Amino acid sequence: MGSNNILETPVEFLKGVGPQRAQLLKTELNIHTFEDLLQHFPFRYVDRSKFYSIAEVNDTVAYIQTKGLIIKTETLGEKRTKRFVATLKDHTGTIELVWFQGLKWVSELVKAGEQYVVFGKPTDFKGKFSFSHPEIESYDHYMQMGTEGLHGIYSSTERLRNFGMDSKGMLKLMRQLLHQLHGHLPEYLPSYLIQQNKFVSREVAWRNIHLPANANELKDAEFRLKFEELFVIQMRLLKIKTNRNLVYRGMVFGKVGNYFNTFYNDYLPYELTGAQKRVIKEIRSDMGSGKQMNRLLQGDVGSGKTVVSLICMLIALDNAYQSCLMAPTEILANQHFTTITELLGNMPVKVGLLTGSTTKKQRAVLFEQLLNGELHLLIGTHALIEEKVQFQNLGFVVIDEQHRFGVEQRSKLWSKSQQYVPHVLVMTATPIPRTLAMTVYGDLDISIIDELPPGRKPIMTVHRYDDRRLDVYEFIRNQIAAGRQAYIVYPLIEESEKLDYKNLMDGYDMVLNRFPIPQYQISIVHGKMKAKTKDWEMQRFVNGTTQIMVATTVIEVGVNVPNASIMLIESVERFGLSQLHQLRGRVGRGAEQSYCILMSSHKLSREARMRIDTMVRTNDGFEIAEVDLKLRGPGNIEGTQQSGVIDLKLTNISQDQEIIELARATANNIMEKDAALQMPEHLPLLNFLQQNSKSKSNWSRIS
Ligand code: ADP
Ligand code: MG
Repeated sequence: MGSNNILETPVEFLKGVGPQRAQLLKTELNIHTFEDLLQHFPFRYVDRSKFYSIAEVNDTVAYIQTKGLIIKTETLGEKRTKRFVATLKDHTGTIELVWFQGLKWVSELVKAGEQYVVFGKPTDFKGKFSFSHPEIESYDHYMQMGTEGLHGIYSSTERLRNFGMDSKGMLKLMRQLLHQLHGHLPEYLPSYLIQQNKFVSREVAWRNIHLPANANELKDAEFRLKFEELFVIQMRLLKIKTNRNLVYRGMVFGKVGNYFNTFYNDYLPYELTGAQKRVIKEIRSDMGSGKQMNRLLQGDVGSGKTVVSLICMLIALDNAYQSCLMAPTEILANQHFTTITELLGNMPVKVGLLTGSTTKKQRAVLFEQLLNGELHLLIGTHALIEEKVQFQNLGFVVIDEQHRFGVEQRSKLWSKSQQYVPHVLVMTATPIPRTLAMTVYGDLDISIIDELPPGRKPIMTVHRYDDRRLDVYEFIRNQIAAGRQAYIVYPLIEESEKLDYKNLMDGYDMVLNRFPIPQYQISIVHGKMKAKTKDWEMQRFVNGTTQIMVATTVIEVGVNVPNASIMLIESVERFGLSQLHQLRGRVGRGAEQSYCILMSSHKLSREARMRIDTMVRTNDGFEIAEVDLKLRGPGNIEGTQQSGVIDLKLTNISQDQEIIELARATANNIMEKDAALQMPEHLPLLNFLQQNSKSKSNWSRIS
């Protein structure tokens, strides 16, 4: 195929398009080439072979096709109620068709005494069904069009419609396109794959996704094209992974020595859970394998990822390597530093902290100790990779709560120093569904902690409307009287930052009012504060000086105050699910029963209600992640931007799990057998993948 790939032909060269329509296709639908047009899939299909009789019309079916004779037309009403009403009749009854717009056009098209085919969504008005704004076409014309089987319905726009490119016009273009492409869509999947999976050919798949004769043809076409879509991504990810293994040698952490053993036997304050032990084994075997480890550690909030990472850092130290741990915020970096120094007690391990607040002087000392090997573990924020931090021999990098950065940024870590590449462990803040993880983090190996430490009491979650705020405050007062502490969280979302800030401050005033000094002490933390002030306020809450922490989502990740037993979330309807789950994870860390109170106004969208119901129903982060994915789609889940999942045109990540697994397994098999794709049966695939990655970086399309 090479550079004369017919799919890259500009769309104006399609018969029936021409410069003007081509321009419209570009501006309205971002369709530039044959390939773009081919990938403009129908958003649904209508079974044109099935006609409902008028007596069968009901509103339980989304869209209905019926036919009959128009026996009467009339224009009724005045001004805003002006409408065109036609009565359609068949041998079972009559039904009204109503138009409020385009009256002139429709009154010319629809004539009494003629047969029509009508397609639309019936509405129930006072027990009587009617169609409003149905699609309508003369029966004769309809039959001439060769209207067997399923018909694709394409999205279009007002301007395209004005130029004859409504759904029907699109379908016409599609027929023409498929005609011109005939014989130009060669197979590239190896024939053994086609046989194993009973795939239809590439050409048949493309034709039948647009023009299926029946539901089975459509299903087969979808199966093949979804597979392709996913398979290409998996091949790309596994290629990244394989290349990494070819280029970089992993340092071999062969032994488990004194640091590990002493910590494990004498310092670890609890028994590890089975899941923690299993995950540590997985990491250890990677680190000892001679390959450079790139592993994702997934575990629910509070599942104990920190101690797992610490134990692995000690293994690195046993092999005379330094480690670093990178956190997304300063608060979290500080917290990790405290936790880890406490866990290590008086073990001879030297831990450093590097954040935006580290002074020049402190930095100078840190850098020196890093370089001469005195410092064993470095904990910090992004400053760790952004600055020219030099280690004597960095062997292990931990990235905590990393969902804020993707493949690109991750790769920064290991392209920095060439032959000398540390093992990398990435820890997610909240679980992500397995299939999404496979796609977003497909270049990583995955370990999962699927068990919480024993003795945790499940957090009780309730929903309250904000007109009951005083009752909620009363409840908080009782908890404080019993020695507990409470978080009260307000949303802070960038586009309405000013207003949110005002809400936070109003809320703070109200809380001050209802929880008066000196009986109550209150901390406040938000993003506009200086790090020092923030720290001071945090510290007062951590050491119990204050009983209430009023905050924005800056406390979302990582903060650990076991005595806090209440999480009150204001304007809960404005938070996303994973954020809510993270926030809730701040309580339930001690021995006492904890509560999460979700407060909202009475005005709730369907989605907001679903989010609230999900939070009330379950504490399971993996389950919540599945709902989140369903509600928001993969493009809105953090970390997915660079992964290719948001480009998915056919696949639904939350529904097509089996195909995702199949694509992954297939790509895995091929990469194991023939990573360079040099076997004769893989050459067309190699060609295709190379071409595919080229068109992805076609700059002319970025406008
Ligand atoms: P996350 O996975 O959310 O980062 P953390 O590492 O912060 O969770 O751990 C949450 C809490 O659970 C910490 O207070 C930690 O000390 C505690 N913890 C971790 N592992 C265990 C265990 N095996 N048994 C008991 N408590 C544990
Ligand atoms: Mg954590």
